[in-house]
Amino acid sequence: MQTKVYAAPAAKQPLAPSTIERRDVGPNDVAIDILFSGICHSDIHQARDEWGAGRFPMVPGHEIVGRVTKVGANVTKVTIGDLAGVGCMVDSCGDCTYCREDHEQFCEKGNAGTYNATEMDRKTPTYGGYSQQIVVVERFVLKVPTNLELAAVAPLLCAGITTYSPLKQWQCRPGSKVGVVGLGGLGHMAVKIAAAMGAEVTMLSTSQKKAEDAKKLGAHDFVLTSDKDAFSKNKGRFDLIIDTVSAAHDYNAFLRCLRPYGAMICVGAPPEPQQISAFSLIGGNKRLAGSMIGGIRETQEMLDFCSAKNIAAEVEVISAKQINEAYERTLKGDVRYRFSIDARTFAE
Ligand code: NAP
Ligand code: ZN
Repeated sequence: MQTKVYAAPAAKQPLAPSTIERRDVGPNDVAIDILFSGICHSDIHQARDEWGAGRFPMVPGHEIVGRVTKVGANVTKVTIGDLAGVGCMVDSCGDCTYCREDHEQFCEKGNAGTYNATEMDRKTPTYGGYSQQIVVVERFVLKVPTNLELAAVAPLLCAGITTYSPLKQWQCRPGSKVGVVGLGGLGHMAVKIAAAMGAEVTMLSTSQKKAEDAKKLGAHDFVLTSDKDAFSKNKGRFDLIIDTVSAAHDYNAFLRCLRPYGAMICVGAPPEPQQISAFSLIGGNKRLAGSMIGGIRETQEMLDFCSAKNIAAEVEVISAKQINEAYERTLKGDVRYRFSIDARTFAE
């Protein structure tokens, strides 16, 4: 099947319209007509080869919502006409310790990333959601709730699960004092989800102009981190900090804001390594950890949670032609709070 896409032809080149071939639907496959595809900052890091593992041409996009058009003979999870979602992975070995425990993101053979990766044959390149259609094995297809706006559901497939998973793992609960660093795509979902879990959420941001939005999203407090006493005033305040920042910044400053035994979880992935002082962790037995997306079972749990709580992303819907401009605007922090591409416009 030929499908129209937007692809980065090489690192640091603008994305341009192109056509790729999708495989025929096998017995365990689901074909999806994509409706919306979110723009994650990881798409920008990868299309510009900032993480140094770029495979080109690259069709980014791992926040995918669409409608099922064809299913293989063995498929039972979805049927033709159903809504379906695809996130950051499209396959894994299914058999290793981590796959068996529903943590396919840590598949011992290496999962098949939705793009900038290969299928499990380690030969066939994968192409992501900036595309009219996609074909994915059933195991990696998510059931999409019908009560939420679809353009706003797409970002849940990465920004949603990437923030839900560490909040769950680190026991965010009613009354938890949670700090969220960086109000972008991930950050705004972290605020909404933590607030829906009953936490007392504080937004830690470099952008004063986002203060009002942070409160609307569910934050109880806003701290402008460029204020000179921001860190001393908030020393020892949080049980949990979710750090979503995409660029170099000082982790030590935020570690000071944890209470003893508190934890700071890095989900933002600045390309450059950062310095951590041992003393930032020693005083107060603090924990610094990372978190990578989430497994398929947990992604479904997150979608069901968002459906029950009636939460989804705040999106600006754009057409395919606006992707390059959307990248520039994301880099400038000029997005409230996720771009969602109307996938019908790939055909134009
Ligand atoms: P985004 O929408 O661009 O948001 C990033 C936010 O970080 C910005 O809105 C800004 O918030 C803050 N920020 C940016 N530059 C900064 C700087 N120089 N200093 C301080 N703060 C700065 O990006 P996103 O899509 O949410 O992604 C965030 C990061 O998470 C990216 O690195 C992405 O690759 C990574 N990611 C990781 C996973 C995972 O599995 N761990 C999954 C998806 C994405 P303020 O204006 O509020 O300061
Ligand atoms: Zn992402």
